[in-house]
Amino acid sequence: MRIKVQYAMVLNLDKCLGCHTCSIPCKNVWTNRKGTEYMWFNNVETKPGIGYPRSWENQRVHRGGWHLNAGRLELKAGGRVSKGLNIFHNPDLPTIDDYYEPWTYNYERLVNSPQRKHQPSIQPQSQLTGEPIKLKWGPNWEDDLAGVGETGPGDVNFKDLDYSVYLKFRNIFMFYLPRLCEHCLNPACVASCPSGALYKRDEDGIVLVDQERCRGWRYCVSGCPYKKVYFNWKTGRSEKCIFCYPRIEAGLTTLCSHSCVGRIRYVGVLLYDADRILEAASAPSDQEVYPAHLGILLDPEDPEIQKVAAAQGIADSILSAATRSPVYRLIKKWKLALPLHPEFRTLPMVWYIPPLSPVKHHTESIQEQDFIDNLRIPVTYLANLLTAGDQAPVRLALKRLSAVRRFMRSQRIENKVDREVSESVGLSEKTIEEIFRLLSLARLEDRTVLPRAPVKGDNLFDSRGTCGFGDSI
Ligand code: SF4
Ligand code: SF4
Repeated sequence: MRIKVQYAMVLNLDKCLGCHTCSIPCKNVWTNRKGTEYMWFNNVETKPGIGYPRSWENQRVHRGGWHLNAGRLELKAGGRVSKGLNIFHNPDLPTIDDYYEPWTYNYERLVNSPQRKHQPSIQPQSQLTGEPIKLKWGPNWEDDLAGVGETGPGDVNFKDLDYSVYLKFRNIFMFYLPRLCEHCLNPACVASCPSGALYKRDEDGIVLVDQERCRGWRYCVSGCPYKKVYFNWKTGRSEKCIFCYPRIEAGLTTLCSHSCVGRIRYVGVLLYDADRILEAASAPSDQEVYPAHLGILLDPEDPEIQKVAAAQGIADSILSAATRSPVYRLIKKWKLALPLHPEFRTLPMVWYIPPLSPVKHHTESIQEQDFIDNLRIPVTYLANLLTAGDQAPVRLALKRLSAVRRFMRSQRIENKVDREVSESVGLSEKTIEEIFRLLSLARLEDRTVLPRAPVKGDNLFDSRGTCGFGDSI
């Protein structure tokens, strides 16, 4: 057993407001330079929708991630030979139009406009060419279902569902999906890079691009099934979410989780067995990847694991943070958080708690087993998004979330303890209270448990916007 450390994040979709407050500090701090205009290391999508870049989930189009070929794990886009053949033209790359052509406005025209009868107006102009452009797409173009009547049919999560039924006014549903790099355990971006510029940090599992080694081949961009590596057109190199490592190293949480208005983000330390990554990623069927992925996460409270981890050189401060990790409890202990598209086989390490939604037709006769099937968001849709179509883990998570609400309601409003509820979902009363506290009342220090390290005289304001890359590149 080779124990490794991974910093991971859980997002509670039940509480995401779609306010985009997470994306803005990230944009202002890490991608506010030339060449990065169109990059959103963190973006928030409305589901259903095809997202940013367009159709990123459709690997028939983008050929990102891994697949099994005669039982062997292979990059979907092919190995070295096919990369060598396509080195001057990578057919799987998304185009700038799939992201969007970044634009700005000439505000001077408004400020300096002479007095006239009609209000002055300004046209959007491309940040790449400076020419006036017609806006056709953007990072949150489908915000609150805008235009989803046209784009929705392209959403791959409608698999096994009749999308036309779910896009009808009476049935329509929506929720928000904030996305960032998943800092995968089996990153396709790293495996796709011919120059070895991408790497996974040993100490915390953060995936980074070495700017000195990057040759701009862009196979990482097409290899990542989540489309979370971007090409900087000014420097000619790739960039991606860095999990705010300069902050993480100082014991601070990421900007997106620090600024999250809905307080939906949890960040913590996980321990996993690195010797079993290949085994988990090559699980025989897509639906078996999630259980196999869970299987390689180790119990940080197990004295044996603690002993082996310490013997392998993992610091006490990290082990102590791992035992208090909110993400371990949400992912493995309570099975409330699920991975995003486990079928891509990258073993993503940003997890999502599925959202509850109102029941469509409320009648007294709705039994407990029918309840989940009557939610406005179809379970099949959530399962296609989070568990490769396996409904059982989604049902369990939704039942547990709803049980927490019912239990707390019975306790606080009806002044009784509804033991039936807790027993029906296999959780003790104490655990239900614990889940309730973590999901609704937790303070920042409960939601983010990271090993502490002192900041020594760092001037974060000066290094703002440099992404750790410096201006020399
Ligand atoms: S999500 Fe991040 S770590 Fe995973 S393949 Fe994409 S860029 Fe790499
Ligand atoms: S800041 Fe939080 S609540 Fe707002 S969109 Fe981002 S993740 Fe959702």
